[in-house]
Amino acid sequence: MTEPIQRPKRKNPVLRTRLPTLPPGTRSRVTLGLTEAAARGIFALQVCRDCGTVQYPPREACHACLSLRLDWKPQDGAGELISDTRIRHALELYFRERAPWRLGVVKLDVGPIVVVQVHGDVPPPPTRVRVHACLDKAHQAALFALPEKETPHMADDRQLREMTCDPKFRKVLVTDGKTAVGQAIVRAVVDAGADIVWVGYAELWKKFPGFDELEKIPQVTLLPLDVTDARSVKEIAGEIGAKVDILINNAEHHRAFGISGRYGTDVAKAEMEVNYFGLLRLAQEFGPAMRSRGADGLNSAVAWVNVLSIFALSNYPAQGTFSASKAAAHSLAQCLRAEMRASGVRVINVYPGPIDDEWNQMILPPKLAPAALASAIVKALRDGVEDVYPGDVAQDWLARWRDNPKALERELAE
Ligand SMILES: [Zn+2]
Repeated sequence: MTEPIQRPKRKNPVLRTRLPTLPPGTRSRVTLGLTEAAARGIFALQVCRDCGTVQYPPREACHACLSLRLDWKPQDGAGELISDTRIRHALELYFRERAPWRLGVVKLDVGPIVVVQVHGDVPPPPTRVRVHACLDKAHQAALFALPEKETPHMADDRQLREMTCDPKFRKVLVTDGKTAVGQAIVRAVVDAGADIVWVGYAELWKKFPGFDELEKIPQVTLLPLDVTDARSVKEIAGEIGAKVDILINNAEHHRAFGISGRYGTDVAKAEMEVNYFGLLRLAQEFGPAMRSRGADGLNSAVAWVNVLSIFALSNYPAQGTFSASKAAAHSLAQCLRAEMRASGVRVINVYPGPIDDEWNQMILPPKLAPAALASAIVKALRDGVEDVYPGDVAQDWLARWRDNPKALERELAE
């Protein structure tokens, strides 16, 4: 059984922080199909459209009939562990630093035999397991065999925790605590076992319901943080930047205008100042320290979460300038992800559909409740995924966007 992890001891400031190392990260282009699905928390394999063969490893053609018509399809991962071993010596620095490392071979019920990492609670073979595709520290798909049924403290498994960003015992910064979404996120990460939650607020003179209640939560520390003010971001980064393990940027300026609905650029500029430049300021001030702490033991920096919008993928004309600011932030977040990659710190982009708040008043339900968005963020951290589309509306628009971006553009313009 997995031993539950304990609250990490205070770090010895005399010791040098270890430099992050990564597992081998080079993959062929076709294998990236596995990573693309794992980034959304899905284990997908190639299925031949002509003969129905499920194949692994990914190839350009079906190994049974040479057909090129291969589709990536989600799999349930059920199978049998037929052998396992513990790697005690490795030339790769990443595995050498983490040995012993449990590996195994699983025969999937759908056919293929796959090499997997094995959770500590999986009994010795032969035994039933479920294979899951995780993202490893190099942000590539890695297959992981989990016990068939949940076991106590399963998430605390040493190998599994390398793949995830579980908030338990971690120090979290939530950039805006004044909104309903921000408050829901704070409560969700506290419930998930976060050690400290710093909560930013701008413009304290504006009263927001629920904000004063946050201060009563023992883990919470309120900090004045205005992402539109470079000096404010720098000051807070100087104060806590070297301690933040998970940064959740939910600061957002949201108005419901298109181009013709509001003359001038003042609203669009305000949206860009928070949604785009705010992210840029945070990334420049907090990014370097987080990158340097990607391998800081149990105290490692692990994740950077951006609350974007499904409108970042395709413009919703009724909220046209807001959509554009989120598209800019989406692009910048891809840059941040690339720059964070060498440190192993994961950038998680969240693309909710319309949230049930005042600026989406004119949008018909279903709308995403702030608490549902917050629990989707905690789930994404626990699962270690990269891209999250919480709620039915986001899932539906994602499916339509993947199928035909032009069709979605037309549909949103109606
Ligand atoms: Zn085939």
